[in-house]
Amino acid sequence: MTERTVPSRVRPVPAASSDPRPGVAGVEPTELAGLLAEMGEPAFRARQVGDAVWRSEAPSWDAVTTLGLPLRAGLAERLRFDTVAETDLRLADDDATEKALHRLPDGRLVESVLMHYPARGERRERNTLCISSQAGCAVGCPFCATGELGFERDLDVAEIVDQVRHARRRLVSRGRHLTNLVFMGMGEPLLNLDAVIGAARVLTDADRFGLGARHLTISTSGVVPGIERLTALSPQWTLAVSLHAARDSLRDLLVPLNRRWPVRAVVAAAAGYAAATGRRVSYEYVMIDGLNDTPADADALARLLAGSGSHVNCIPMNPVAHTPWQGSTPERIDAFAGRLRAAGLGVTIRRNRGQEVGAACGQLAAEKSAEPAAAVARRRERLVAASAAALAGGRSQDPAPPGLPAGSPGPEIARTAARAAARPIARPDRRPAAGRQPPGPPRRGSR
Ligand code: SAH
Ligand code: SF4
Repeated sequence: MTERTVPSRVRPVPAASSDPRPGVAGVEPTELAGLLAEMGEPAFRARQVGDAVWRSEAPSWDAVTTLGLPLRAGLAERLRFDTVAETDLRLADDDATEKALHRLPDGRLVESVLMHYPARGERRERNTLCISSQAGCAVGCPFCATGELGFERDLDVAEIVDQVRHARRRLVSRGRHLTNLVFMGMGEPLLNLDAVIGAARVLTDADRFGLGARHLTISTSGVVPGIERLTALSPQWTLAVSLHAARDSLRDLLVPLNRRWPVRAVVAAAAGYAAATGRRVSYEYVMIDGLNDTPADADALARLLAGSGSHVNCIPMNPVAHTPWQGSTPERIDAFAGRLRAAGLGVTIRRNRGQEVGAACGQLAAEKSAEPAAAVARRRERLVAASAAALAGGRSQDPAPPGLPAGSPGPEIARTAARAAARPIARPDRRPAAGRQPPGPPRRGSR
């Protein structure tokens, strides 16, 4: 494992190297047992290997001294111990935020962010990790550094889980443990749903990573069929929906897949998830000065979520180079939050973490593809024009991003909305429990 503080610029991506070995974290226990049997090992080895993968601090097969050298070599030939072994770290916020840039076996870069919240009063210490589900993202939200990169590829189960194992090892070395996990890094989790569900199962399996299901949050920009698939599974994971605008004209601009699944369909699907799981949905609202933070926006949001029992997280936009926009001022955020509260919604104002290390998720990876100044200027001009059109109330004429799943969500939306209306939304769980977090995902520190 190479692990060090990164230099001020990220190294260029090398030519892709393909490594056919699967990551051990994505191999099911029965498959692992079968593989060990094929290698002529006794049955108890499976438990030893599981301990090395899930409970030891070993960063590589070499360091798993509970296994003999020939077995370690045999396993290393077949399985990668860690698919994110090459990781660079940056620290921020007096070391309370740690940004990791992981190089995958094919040279792609993804990011995870570890945030430490010390115990305060009644509140226990929290250590929250924000992880990536894709390299890049196809959705293309214009305020997001990852969206600017475009879509590169889906991560597999091991590549997702290994970000967490990596962070766990760093935490353990400081006498800490992971309390919360959020899919709020690079990528749209519901556009890589098989791997995300697979990873969530591994991470919440008591015999493997063992995180409490309620401590895992999946964030989506509003892929309605994906929300419905999750609803059918009815897990105890928290669903966060990135809303950013309550009106379609503005959301078409800020979250381009709104052109496929408009805001009401997204909220109805989320209500269906809340009804099926008893878990309160939280809404993320990135606040952009003068664009989506007016009293009229707050009122539209309050009307949209009225009676849903949901919670809104207001997040000042982290500035990213290619936009003409700034984050809302604290005064505007307070006023916006106040209007939502007055309308009966739960609201949290999040603060950004890790700004001084260029830590908007996707920013480190975006540095590698530094765009020429003229291209950035053209993009900003286009966004100024598009913002003016959106504020005038016009729906976008541009198509939805390519590569979204097909199918009309219509009838299912109606059913989930009806189910939601028929069942009360669970109140936040106030029982004290080990590592229990306040409801709603903590802000991803990367912003
Ligand atoms: N694709 C998923 C999950 C990853 S993005 C989603 O959009 O929900 C996670 C969160 O980071 C989203 O709420 C997203 O809107 C927010 N985000 C992206 N760029 C940001 C920026 N520049 N400042 C603040 N938050 C940002
Ligand atoms: Fe993708 Fe989420 Fe960024 Fe939008 S905010 S581009 S959905 S990662």
